[in-house]
Amino acid sequence: MNLDIKDTKQSIFLENTVLSVQVGNQKAYIAKEHFTEQQAPEVQRSLIKRTVRRVVIETSSYCNRQCIFCPNVENIRNNDKLSMSDAIYNHILVELASIGFQGEILLHLYNEPLVDKHIFQRIYLANLMLPQAKTTINSNGDFFNQKVAHKLQQNGLDTINITIYGKNPGIFKIKNIKQRIQQLVDSLDINIQSDIETDLSRVIQAHYKTMTINIVGKNVEETAYDRGGLVNVESKEIRKTPCFSPFQEILIAYDGSVVPCCNIHPSHKLHKKHIIGNLQNQSLFSLYCGHKAVQWRQHLIKFDEKEDCCRHCTRYLFNNVFSTEAISTYNKAIDDLLE
Ligand code: SF4
Ligand code: SF4
Repeated sequence: MNLDIKDTKQSIFLENTVLSVQVGNQKAYIAKEHFTEQQAPEVQRSLIKRTVRRVVIETSSYCNRQCIFCPNVENIRNNDKLSMSDAIYNHILVELASIGFQGEILLHLYNEPLVDKHIFQRIYLANLMLPQAKTTINSNGDFFNQKVAHKLQQNGLDTINITIYGKNPGIFKIKNIKQRIQQLVDSLDINIQSDIETDLSRVIQAHYKTMTINIVGKNVEETAYDRGGLVNVESKEIRKTPCFSPFQEILIAYDGSVVPCCNIHPSHKLHKKHIIGNLQNQSLFSLYCGHKAVQWRQHLIKFDEKEDCCRHCTRYLFNNVFSTEAISTYNKAIDDLLE
């Protein structure tokens, strides 16, 4: 079946067995192979090369905060400072290098990456082995200063996104947050490109040499996800739209656990069952193409009510984007694709 639904900002195009989806900034390549286990290495490599845009690598376990909008509030990442082993880190880079990975490498998950004493070397290695990829870190900014900025840039980091939270556990008080942002900016030798301030937020984009620095201060509690049911949020609306995260992203925790999306906490007891495998005994590519990942994608691809961790998830929602008729045509096309 062929399908072509277009609007000004979004389109879904399906021809034979390949679906191309563009909704706002999201662009996804979806093929029949995403929905059945793939064991042939050449099929795995081709599928991942065409689909995966972001690989998230949590190089260490520790976070110094316990934000109320994060599962870490349960004190699950505030004790041991464990690092991802060199063997696992190198294994990831070697596999990605074998397909000439050109997407984004994000070196954070439920940790604070600037506490990791190996972070500079890990950035350097990622750049060395994946010269066409972009490297990014998300940080809470508590350990960021001019010296750290210099070392990150020297080792080739492309972007650091710093979210300034209120005093632990992240209670939002805009006055304090703006003060912290001002202190940070005053202490840095950076080139500010834009500085947008409202009553309830301040967002700065700056550069240090080749590195982009984004500093954000806003009430993230208001926009936070429910993290697969681990965090209480106001909205309890049932998700009825597809999610392309487990198609486009691969996420690896510090101990080698691979999770389907950033809302699954690899160390939380309620989410352990959602881990799709571990790199200590499996390859990244075979996990992406394996049974558990396939099940996640089958559950997420249609416009219908989502279950379990995804039931109230608001990440990359695109409600009200398509007409009822277009949704029904899309779902029919997906049924044909899954047959
Ligand atoms: S939101 Fe970030 S800084 Fe806060 S506890 Fe979670 S990982 Fe740590
Ligand atoms: S809907 Fe949310 S919880 Fe489910 S896979 Fe997508 S991002 Fe993860």
